[in-house]
Amino acid sequence: MFDYSDLRRRFAEVARTVVLEEVPAIEEYQWPGRSMRALAEAGLYGLAVPERFGEELGRISPSASLCFCMHVVGSAVIAAKPTDAQAERYLLPIARGEHLTTLALSEPGTGAHFYEPTARLTREGDAYRVDGSKSFVTNGGHADSYVVSTLSAEGATAAGMFSCLVVDAGTPGLAWQDTWRGLGMRGNSSISAMLDGARVPAANLLGEEGDQTWYVFHVIAPYFLMAMAATYLGAAQSALDLAMDHVKERVHVQKGQSLAEIPAIQTRIAEMWTAVQQLRLHLYHAAERGDLGDPGALPFILSAKASAAEVAVQVCNEALTCVGGIGYRENSTLWTFLRDARASHVMAPTTDLLKSWTARALLGLPVL
Ligand SMILES: Cc1cc2nc3c(=O)[nH]c(=O)nc-3n(C[C@H](O)[C@H](O)[C@H](O)COP(=O)(O)OP(=O)(O)OC[C@H]3O[C@@H](n4cnc5c(N)ncnc54)[C@H](O)[C@@H]3O)c2cc1C
Repeated sequence: MFDYSDLRRRFAEVARTVVLEEVPAIEEYQWPGRSMRALAEAGLYGLAVPERFGEELGRISPSASLCFCMHVVGSAVIAAKPTDAQAERYLLPIARGEHLTTLALSEPGTGAHFYEPTARLTREGDAYRVDGSKSFVTNGGHADSYVVSTLSAEGATAAGMFSCLVVDAGTPGLAWQDTWRGLGMRGNSSISAMLDGARVPAANLLGEEGDQTWYVFHVIAPYFLMAMAATYLGAAQSALDLAMDHVKERVHVQKGQSLAEIPAIQTRIAEMWTAVQQLRLHLYHAAERGDLGDPGALPFILSAKASAAEVAVQVCNEALTCVGGIGYRENSTLWTFLRDARASHVMAPTTDLLKSWTARALLGLPVL
């Protein structure tokens, strides 16, 4: 079995040095460019072990973790069925740490139903013309390429089928709109893109026309859900660690008693710790089933991210209660984690949809 400990150590090292230093800038809505470069230079751009790096990066900066996750999931989509030309143009530079990609799936019109794009693809000789709009593109304006989902070109497949293709940064017809000002995940640069007659080489189509649903379930779902769940696990673990350190150190002068000695605080610590351990076991078990190609892995993977969302928000919130007024002050570390954790429920696949899909998978119903 592959030993992940060295990789995990490298992620932790970058997270606890460069990413940690960049957190104040991230909180000022700056895209974490230094962190991303450091991850590339540490030889980590070409990896696909989302549960391990997600947890390490998420402990320091969920926002930087998300920027990195989107690159890894975008890379996995390109790597799933690459042509020789795509491997040469995208995968080799990604492996060398020279190319950043990201996912542009969501659209303003379809919202949480990111698997039903309406962007249009029209075949024009040896190229495609792409028209449509994409929303919340993390790393928007900073990536070297964008994995974009569209309706299949007319006549290429049955009606209603979808495709994925790579659109290079700087493609004429690709324009960025607005700036990112989120409640949390402030470094994300999750902005909107307009594709207005963008001309993309036909060679940039990923897989076959109409393959997009295959990508959603076989590549995006497992990698993305594990990376997201791990990011929020990292946030929950950090919030718990902060609360435990605080309650041990905080002593009231009148009795000389620390918060750690108060039964109500102990109950909160025990509940937070239990929730974090349960989430970690669930997540790594789901990842292992996915790695083994277990056909029954899907409900484990779907529910891991929904569970991570609930645990992260709950633990960050409870940790804030334990830390009291100091934690509530503007720009406390817990405030950042709580704001970042809140993104988990609204980012697709959203918690509501994941629960519905988990139940459908368990009941033998089509997931979509
Ligand atoms: C920080 C951040 C980063 C993001 N990064 C990316 C990215 O890199 N790439 C990308 O493609 N997208 C990205 N997104 C977009 C994201 O994944 C979602 O597509 C988007 O947030 C959906 O938002 P909406 O408000 O349009 O959803 P809406 O569809 O309006 O949903 C609003 C609420 O209704 C619920 N809901 C909707 N439909 C159903 C249903 N059928 N059943 C049950 N509940 C339902 C949802 O769960 C949600 O809680 C990002 C979003 C955020 C917030």
